[in-house]
Amino acid sequence: MLLNEPITAIKGIGEKKAQILNNLGIFTVEDIVEYFPRDYEDRSDVRKIDQLVEDEENTFFAWVDNMPENVHIGKMSITKVRLSDETGKINAVWYNQAFLKNAIKKDEYYIFTGIYRKKNGRREIVSPEFEKAESKEILGAGRIVPVYHLTAGISQKVIRALVKKTLDSVKTQLPDFMPLDIRKKYCLCERNFAISNIHFPENSESFFIARKRLVFDELFILQMALFKLKGTTKRNSGIIFKCDNVLEETQKALGFEFTNAQKKVTEEIINDVSKGVLMNRLIQGDVGSGKTAIAMAACLMAIKNGYQAALMAPTEVLASQHYEAFSAFFQKFGVEVCLLKGSLKKKEKDAAKESILSGKTKMVIGTHAIIQKDVEFKNLALVITDEQHRFGVKQRNVLTEKGTNAHVLVMTATPIPRTLALILYGDLDVSVIDELPPGRQEILTYAVNSSYHKRAYAFIRKEVENGRQAYMVCPMIEESDAIEAKAVETMIDEVSQTDFKGLNVSVLHGKMKPDEKDAIMSDFAANKIQILISTTVIEVGINVPNATIMLIENAERFGLSQLHQLRGRVGRGKYQSYCILVTDSKSQITKERMKVMQKTNDGFEISETDLKLRGPGEFFGTRQHGIPQLKIANLYKDADMLSLSQEAAKELNRMKDWSNLPEYRLISEKIDTLFLNSQRIGI
Ligand code: ADP
Ligand code: MG
Repeated sequence: MLLNEPITAIKGIGEKKAQILNNLGIFTVEDIVEYFPRDYEDRSDVRKIDQLVEDEENTFFAWVDNMPENVHIGKMSITKVRLSDETGKINAVWYNQAFLKNAIKKDEYYIFTGIYRKKNGRREIVSPEFEKAESKEILGAGRIVPVYHLTAGISQKVIRALVKKTLDSVKTQLPDFMPLDIRKKYCLCERNFAISNIHFPENSESFFIARKRLVFDELFILQMALFKLKGTTKRNSGIIFKCDNVLEETQKALGFEFTNAQKKVTEEIINDVSKGVLMNRLIQGDVGSGKTAIAMAACLMAIKNGYQAALMAPTEVLASQHYEAFSAFFQKFGVEVCLLKGSLKKKEKDAAKESILSGKTKMVIGTHAIIQKDVEFKNLALVITDEQHRFGVKQRNVLTEKGTNAHVLVMTATPIPRTLALILYGDLDVSVIDELPPGRQEILTYAVNSSYHKRAYAFIRKEVENGRQAYMVCPMIEESDAIEAKAVETMIDEVSQTDFKGLNVSVLHGKMKPDEKDAIMSDFAANKIQILISTTVIEVGINVPNATIMLIENAERFGLSQLHQLRGRVGRGKYQSYCILVTDSKSQITKERMKVMQKTNDGFEISETDLKLRGPGEFFGTRQHGIPQLKIANLYKDADMLSLSQEAAKELNRMKDWSNLPEYRLISEKIDTLFLNSQRIGI
């Protein structure tokens, strides 16, 4: 049996079972080998029948005294058998598993693991797993047993047996793809040992040794693949900008003084672009920390030096808003700004492209329309992506390739925990804006249940009558624009004739045409619309300082970081702002999320908590990042391994032509195949 063979090559796996395994993401023999347990059960404590602990899982050896019998009570079938050891006797019962009658035999010796119950004077073991006493690993008597993620149609026992059988038959051919020098340097065990001990640990030491190796493998390969994808392991030389007075001029044109944090980051940018290497910098700053102003300063640097600059935003609404702000700013320097977006008419687009190619247009703003192949620049020297977390790694790359040697600045309002930043932006320098512009007030946040609706609406009404504005956000329901649209339509029908009668209420959702969206957003910005009922279209970057209330329906459906983003739409001006989270969910995770939201406005604290509560897999959707699902490593808990493996990855990359060396061939293949199936990982 070969590792890359389909699972049907394994004896006993037909089409039907294969289908079930496919549902678990298992397609090949190797997928089984790498189907790591989600947890373990300690069955090293083997008991005697007279020592069984009530309401707990117990493992014991016993003889089967009689033929199992099936009885029927209504629709239910009960299978019953009598077990004994030298200390006593006990009944085992199974419900609706009549087939077991033939699986368990009189006068044979088995290991059982099941819950021991005492009910109405009867003592029994309920639905125990059992196995002939010779195959200890599967049931795990006397040892630690693996617990796997399951799906309908497959049991722990079956999958455990399958893994065991597969390991036994491929053990000798598991190649150790990690080169010896790396294994030695980082003190990693052999892969064979790691694989067998991650499934069936000999003891806890072996388990930790095994896990260390596999976590290292996974993180190392991921980082190597990312390096390769980004293709930025070596720094090209970059265009040199002269930046005298740019900071002063920017502040003057904007009419406010930069915060110390903004000044510091601007200096870091100036330092990058004035020394002749290519800038590759991530700016992390909480919502409202003033990233746009920094982007303007950077663009001014490029343009004053005679080059073109481009800014890419994830949505048309946001691109339009940036266009307004940049136009106003660059007007003061006599620089025209061009907005390039998908919804332009062909003629307009052609004209814009012409002007970009000729170099007449210096400042280009757009959505991913900018990265379409047919947009050519004359001398693009700076590329900025706003709200970077919304773009995949690949999209960012395409834009970088547009300019031969363009400096790159990426900005994100979602503070990314350090560990995740290492993975996602391992090749970037990081600047942090850790200060908000002066005069900002803490946004007061309340989590309430839906019985508070009336009161919340009355409060919104009062604020609006005082001249303020409000957002009301409905959750995203699956990713269907049509259903979302319906949710907001229903909401507006409900409130516009009752609680908000006489006020200007409008809706905004993903199903609208970009022009409609733009029109609504500018009406909202001009306070022609007082209450905006919307889906998460408004999540990213919208800036309307007069809006002071953010009400979020079904808050349990949003991740913490998303809630924080949404909340960041208010509290942008001088007025006290409020965030009302409406949820009827009683789940523990929701409760904890709401608690954090009420407790803090600090985006970093919130994202750390998010990572803890949700795990990195779901963390603002790895799909958006194009990071494959991790099988064993936990980006939160394995931060140390993350740095170690990154160090190893960087080291290997510094080696010339390493992938041509024979001892690196296997690892190089592994790295190449990770991103091969881009469909499966969503980039
Ligand atoms: P974000 O970091 O979320 O993108 P923005 O760049 O949209 O934040 O800035 C939020 C608001 O703060 C804008 O209205 C902007 O004009 C204002 N702002 C930014 N920097 C300063 C500053 N140093 N002083 C006063 N207001 C500022
Ligand atoms: Mg922004």
